[in-house]
Amino acid sequence: MNSRHWLNYIDGQWVDSEQRLTILAPATNQPVATIAQASEGDAERALNAARRCADSGELTHARPAHRVTWLLRIAEEIRAIADEGARILCAENGKTLRDAKGEFDEAARYFEYYAGMADKIEGTSIPLGNGYMDFTLYDPMGVSLQIVPWNFPVSICARSLAPALAAGNAVIVKSPELSPLGLCVLVEAIERAGTPPGAVNLLCGRGREVGAYMASSNKVDQIVFTGSVPTGQTILRSAAENAVPCVMELGGKSAALVFPDADREQILTSVRDGIFFNAGQVCSAMSRILIHRSIYDEIVNSIVEMVDGFSIGAGEENPVITPVISAGQLTGIDVLCHSAQEEGAVVATGGERLSGMAGNFMAPTVFRDVTPEMSIAQIEVFGPVLAAIAFDTEEEAIAIANGTEFGLVAGVFTQDLNRALRCSRRLRAGQVFVNEWYAGGIETPFGGVGLSGYGREKGQEALYSYVRTKNLAIRIKGE
Ligand code: NAD
Repeated sequence: MNSRHWLNYIDGQWVDSEQRLTILAPATNQPVATIAQASEGDAERALNAARRCADSGELTHARPAHRVTWLLRIAEEIRAIADEGARILCAENGKTLRDAKGEFDEAARYFEYYAGMADKIEGTSIPLGNGYMDFTLYDPMGVSLQIVPWNFPVSICARSLAPALAAGNAVIVKSPELSPLGLCVLVEAIERAGTPPGAVNLLCGRGREVGAYMASSNKVDQIVFTGSVPTGQTILRSAAENAVPCVMELGGKSAALVFPDADREQILTSVRDGIFFNAGQVCSAMSRILIHRSIYDEIVNSIVEMVDGFSIGAGEENPVITPVISAGQLTGIDVLCHSAQEEGAVVATGGERLSGMAGNFMAPTVFRDVTPEMSIAQIEVFGPVLAAIAFDTEEEAIAIANGTEFGLVAGVFTQDLNRALRCSRRLRAGQVFVNEWYAGGIETPFGGVGLSGYGREKGQEALYSYVRTKNLAIRIKGE
C-alpha cells in the first residue's frame, strides 16, 4: 500500500485539516498512511451539511423508488472497489485479506438488502369508527450520527448507513482513529453513486474530542454507537441532555454451552470461528465455552490440538491468527491473561504475547479450570483468548452463561432439539446460535441486553430504528 494522505468528506467535498493522524500497520507497527484529523470546526460543518440535507427533503421528496436505485448503485460501486478496499483495510487493520474483502462484500449486501426495503416503509390505517380516518406515517429521524469501532469498520458502518439512507436520513459517520482508511474507500464508492452533498459525511478524529463534540450536539436526531461499554455510557449521558434516541451495540462475554451429545466437528469449527477469527476482536466472540464435565478433558484437549496447529502471521498471508489492532490492545490482553493465572486459571495453550515478532501478535490462548467468578470469565478480553468452564447440569450451565453483566449472543451445542430449545429460551442474549457459532446473517436481527446495549441492527427490524412514527388523525364531517 502506498503512504497516501487521506481526507475527511464533508458536504460532498474531500477536505484536509491542520492536524493529522498516523495510521500504523498492526503487523509491523510501521506507518501505512496519514489522515486528516477532524476538528470541532469540521464537525460543525458536517453537522450543518447533514442538517441542511435532511431538512431540504432532498432524500424523501421523490418517490422512494429513487432511493432503491441509488442504494443499488452504491452496492455496485462498492463491489467495484472491493479488492482495492480490502488491500487497504488489511494493511491498516491487520485482518486477513480474505476477511477484509468479506467486509466490502457484506457492505454491498447491506445496501442491496435495504434497497429492497426503501420503497416498502409503509404505515398502517387504524379504524376509529365513523367520523374519523386515522393512519400512521414513518418519517426519517433526520440527522443520524454513527460512531464506528475499528474491528469491522466497513461492515459495521454499512450496517447502519444503509438502513439510515433507505429511510431518508442524512448521516455523519465518525470513523475509528485506529482504522479509518477502509471507510474512506467505502465513501469514495458512495460518492461515485451520485450521492447528494450532505447526505453522507465522514469524519476521522479523536473519539474523546470530535466524537464527544458531535455526540453532545443538539443538531443530531439520533446516535448509533458501536463500541465499548464505557464509551457508550459516556455518549448516553450526553445524548440524555438533548433527549436524543440512541442505538447502542456494546461489548459481550458470550458463552457456548456444549453437551455430551454435541457434534465434535461442529464444536471445533465454531471454536475456531467463534474466538480466533479476527484475533478474537469480535463483540459477539465465543469468549467462554461451558463444557459438560463428562467430556471436559476430551473437548479441551481437542481444542488445544487444533489451536497448536494454527498459522500465525500478517493478514496478507491469510493465516488463522492475525495481529491485534494496536500495541495498547496487546498489552491489555496480556495483562488480563496474567491476572487469570494469578486467580488460578490454567494455561492449556498460549497465555502470552508472541515475542520476536514486529507486530502486535498474541498467542491463541485457551484457559482451562476457569470458574465463573474469575475475571477471565467476566471481563471482555477482545483478543484470541478462550475460557473453558466445566458444568454438571443444564440448570447450572444456564446460570453460568447468564451470570455476567453482558447479553449479546450465546450458543448451544447438542443433538437434542428439546434441550436446544429449552436452553435457547432461557439464555439472556439478543441472539442464540444452535450448533454453529455466527449462524445467521445480515437478515437476522442483532443486538444485546444488559451492558451489551439495546436496539437492534440487521434484518427488517433494524430499518425501524431509523424512522419515527407519526400518527395522522382526521375528523370527517357528515358521517
Ligand atoms: P471504543 O468505545 O473505544 O471506540 C468506538 C468509537 O467511539 C471510535 O470511533 C471512537 O473514536 C469513538 N469514541 C471514543 N470515545 C468517544 C467519546 N467520548 N464520544 C464519542 N465517541 C467516542 O471501542 P473500540 O475499542 O473501537 O471497539 C471495541 C469495543 O467495541 C468492544 O468492547 C466491542 O465489544 C465493541 N463492539 C461492539 C459491537 C456490537 O455490535 N455490539 C461491534 C464491534 C465492537
